Amino acid sequence: MKVDDFAANLQQVRAHVAAACVRAQRPPESVALIAVSKRQSVEAIRAVCAGGQRVFGESYVQEALDKQAQLLDLEIEWHFIGRVQANKTRQIAAHFAWVHGLSDAAHAQRLNDQRSPELPPLNVCLQVNVSGEASKAGVEPTELPQLLAVCAELPRLRVRGLMTLPAAAMNEMAQRQPFALLRRLRDQHATPELPLDCLSMGMSNDLEAAILEGATMVRIGTAIFGARG
Ligand SMILES: *Cc1c(COP(=O)(O)O)cnc(C)c1O
Repeated sequence: MKVDDFAANLQQVRAHVAAACVRAQRPPESVALIAVSKRQSVEAIRAVCAGGQRVFGESYVQEALDKQAQLLDLEIEWHFIGRVQANKTRQIAAHFAWVHGLSDAAHAQRLNDQRSPELPPLNVCLQVNVSGEASKAGVEPTELPQLLAVCAELPRLRVRGLMTLPAAAMNEMAQRQPFALLRRLRDQHATPELPLDCLSMGMSNDLEAAILEGATMVRIGTAIFGARG
């Protein structure tokens, strides 16, 4: 793709988010866009950044660190959206502002212990499996209170909300179901101390359904960057 295409795609995704917000009767600024740049080049990231995008999501630690080293001149906020592995927590704690997809108390403890005191607390969203058998990632809804209790006690983590990555669904009504379930779980478990005001849900194919159900962060790759290499 050419540099102009990335900028045009970004504008289109922004327009789609705005239209979904109108439909949901929500203010457009209530939804943040994370540009998912996994398996995309640093040139592509630069082009999207030039279009005004500052928040990028990466799924593979080593790939992300290699790109970050080449993009130090840009003020990018990096979100880790991949699967957390115990042997990668030190690098995640050092090089990201947010982790979406935390679903293990031992990983939470490691990220907490490894987060430098010089950095602000690591923002985390806890991943919940809301589509049952179809997905193995994330805690079961019944396990969420326990993970929340563990994370709430870790001073170097800041629990911001919940994240989900549901199985693909055929139509908007089916897409909305897991997102609605995540929102209800949030409503159920939010407290004044832990308002869980972030709902990280929605990708290129289901962002509108997610916004209708209250997403505050959508993670968009393909619709901005095109197919992954
Ligand atoms: C790859 C990925 C995305 C982006 O998916 P697209 O369909 O390309 O928009 C979002 N979230 C997670 C967790 C991902 O791994």
